[in-house]
Amino acid sequence: MGVAHCERVQVIRSVAAMQRLARRWQRQGERIGFVPTMGYLHQGHLSLVRRARAAVGPRGKVVVSIYVNPTQFGPGEDFARYPRDLQRDLALCRGEGVDVVFAPSDADMYPGRAKGCFTTFVVEETLSRVMEGRSRPGHFRGVTTVVAKLFNIVQPDVAVFGAKDWQQAVIVRRMVANLNFPVRILVSPTVREPDGLAMSSRNKYLKGDLRQQATVLWRAIQGVRRHLLEKGRPAPVRELRALVRGVVATAPQARLDYVEFFEPETLQPLGMVGRGAHMALAVFVGGTRLIDNARL
Ligand code: AMP
Repeated sequence: MGVAHCERVQVIRSVAAMQRLARRWQRQGERIGFVPTMGYLHQGHLSLVRRARAAVGPRGKVVVSIYVNPTQFGPGEDFARYPRDLQRDLALCRGEGVDVVFAPSDADMYPGRAKGCFTTFVVEETLSRVMEGRSRPGHFRGVTTVVAKLFNIVQPDVAVFGAKDWQQAVIVRRMVANLNFPVRILVSPTVREPDGLAMSSRNKYLKGDLRQQATVLWRAIQGVRRHLLEKGRPAPVRELRALVRGVVATAPQARLDYVEFFEPETLQPLGMVGRGAHMALAVFVGGTRLIDNARL
């Protein structure tokens, strides 16, 4: 990390200003690495920033967007209370040598939305129907729309997404391939707390005993891995589902939303699960919905 990087990070609030700067960089032949986030940054996000920096090199430009995107939240979800702390985020970005933090307003990102004049969306029609898409209708429509908009604004050469949101990364890859976005998508490994809990801005919601109970997701994944290792051959999905239900039941305030076993690139569900398969699960811990996934 260069000293100059530590000293400042440019904060851009307006879509037009960000787009102008990106166009200038593109004309000058600068490589742009991009990390889209909803802010309240943690070590998981920062690992993506480092990956972006490695991809564009010390002279390239790294842009982090911080935007809690309203269109990917359903009614009754946590949009209003989603944690926000821009000053803290800026300090973390400064420490990582981020060049620009792009933090737009809703009015600038969705002009005319209140008057019903924001009517164009990007919809992925197949991968978005399962898992998170089934539990959170409209979620991926919001994600693909905002990511497409951000790509048009930031014009990155490389964008980095976290394996933590595996389905999202697969859908963004599909969108980029289908719609010819000139950007390379990198997927960076999930960063975990020492007890295995995947880092997430939403972990802030886990008060008191719920924080410990939240380790059921990782314990379920590890339980499945151990089971497959001991068995030494593929296992039927219903056997693994029962195992996961058993682990989740050990946490009194945990409720399983879904657990799926699938082929990692196509999300095709599997009947028999062996090594190389992927699993993903969503669990309510108290009122907080957590997700996790892993290659088996
Ligand atoms: P979010 O701010 O939750 O929308 O996440 C922004 C990006 O960071 C997404 O690409 C996430 O997949 C990624 N991310 C979130 N948590 C983690 C984590 N624990 N490890 C790696 N990447 C993460």
